[in-house]
Amino acid sequence: MPTLDATALRDFVASIFNAAGCSEEEGSRVAASLVSANLAGHDSHGVVRVPRYVAWLRDGLVVADVTPRLERETAITAVIDGRFGFGQTAASFAVEVGTKKALASGLAAVALKHAGHIGRVGEWAERAAAEGVISIHFVNVQGSLLVAPFGGVDRRLSTAPFCIGVPIEGGEPIILDFATSLVAEGKVLVASRGGPPVPDDSMILPDGRLTGDPAALYGDLSRRERNPEAGEGALRAFGLHKGSGLAVLCELLAGALTGNGTAGPRDGGRGRITNGMLSFYLRPDVIDDPEAFAQRARRFIAFCRSSRADRPGGAVLLPGEPERRQRAVREREGVPLPDEVWRSLLATADEVGLVADRIPKPR
Ligand code: NAD
Repeated sequence: MPTLDATALRDFVASIFNAAGCSEEEGSRVAASLVSANLAGHDSHGVVRVPRYVAWLRDGLVVADVTPRLERETAITAVIDGRFGFGQTAASFAVEVGTKKALASGLAAVALKHAGHIGRVGEWAERAAAEGVISIHFVNVQGSLLVAPFGGVDRRLSTAPFCIGVPIEGGEPIILDFATSLVAEGKVLVASRGGPPVPDDSMILPDGRLTGDPAALYGDLSRRERNPEAGEGALRAFGLHKGSGLAVLCELLAGALTGNGTAGPRDGGRGRITNGMLSFYLRPDVIDDPEAFAQRARRFIAFCRSSRADRPGGAVLLPGEPERRQRAVREREGVPLPDEVWRSLLATADEVGLVADRIPKPR
C-alpha cells in the first residue's frame, strides 16, 4: 500500500483541482480539507473523493470558485447560500460567520444550503472550538438517498451527519461527529476499493436480509466508477429507532428548514448532491464563568476515563480523541492509501492533464 507524506499529498491534490479548473486558493482549500480527513483517520472523507469531485466539476454539478451568498442576516442569525460551489468553501464561510456572531453576541444560528459536499463535519466544529465556541451541527444531503429508516428497507434518508464540538480550556476539545447511518457511505466506498470491510449488518437488502457487501450499494463492483444509486440495498441507520429518529431531524432541520431540500430523488435527475447544515454556536461564558466550566468538565472527563477497560489493553476514549491520535501518527508516518485509491488519483491526474513532475513519489 503506498504511503504519502501529508504535505506532498496535499500539494498533489491541490494541483489536480487547479488543473481541473479551480483557483489556487480553492484547490488548496479543498485539498487541505480532504487530506485533513485522511490525517484524522476518516479515509472515507479523504482523497478517495477526488475522482468523484473532479467528475462533478466536469459535469457542472459543482462549480469552481463560487462565493457563498449571505442571503439574510441579523446579529445572531444568518442564511447562507453555497450556490452549488465547493462545500469546503461554503462551510468555511458559514463557520466563520457563526463563530464571529457567537463571539460578539453569545449565541448564533446559521443555516447553510446548496453547498457542495462539506466533507468531515468535525473539521468545522474543530474550527469553532479553536475560537473557544461550542457548536452543534445538523447536516443533510439533498439528492442522496442511501439509508432505510428504522422499520423499512427502502432508501428514504441521506447519511445525514450530526456533530457537536465543545472546547475545554486547558484540555483538548470534545468533538462528536458521525453519520446517522450505521457506517458512512464513504466507508463502504473505501471497502469497495480494497480498504477495511464494513460490518456485516451495515446494509439491508430488499428482502430484509442484512449484509456488509458493498455491492448492495454500488451494484457491479467491476466498474471503475462507483454509483451509490446502482445497488438494490440500503444503508441502515445507527442505533435502531433512535439513530433513525436523529436522521429524520437532520433532514427536517438541515434539509427542510434551510431550504437545501431533503433526501429524495436527485435534482431533476442531474445527479447533483448538496449539503445543508443548520448550526448553533454558543460562547460558553454566557452560561457560566469559563474557568468554573472548564474545571467541572476536566473533572468529569477524568472520571469518565477512569472506568475499567472492557478488554485487556483497552481504554475509554473521549469523542475526538481517536482522530487526534491518528493525526499524530499520520503526520509523522504519512498517509497510507489502498492501491486502488492511489491508482484512481493517478488516473484522475492523467485525465485533467497534470504533468508528471507534479506527481509525488510514495515514501
Ligand atoms: P465514526 O463511526 O467513525 O464515529 C466518529 C465519532 O465517534 C467521532 O466523534 C469519534 O471521535 C468517535 N469515536 C470513534 N471511536 C471512538 C471510541 N473508541 N471511543 C470514543 N469515541 C469514539 O464516524 P462515521 O459515522 O463513519 O462518520 C465519518 C465521517 O463522515 C464524519 O466525519 C462525518 O461528518 C462524515 N460524513 C459526512 C457527510 C457529508 O455529507 N458531508 C455525510 C456522512 C458522514
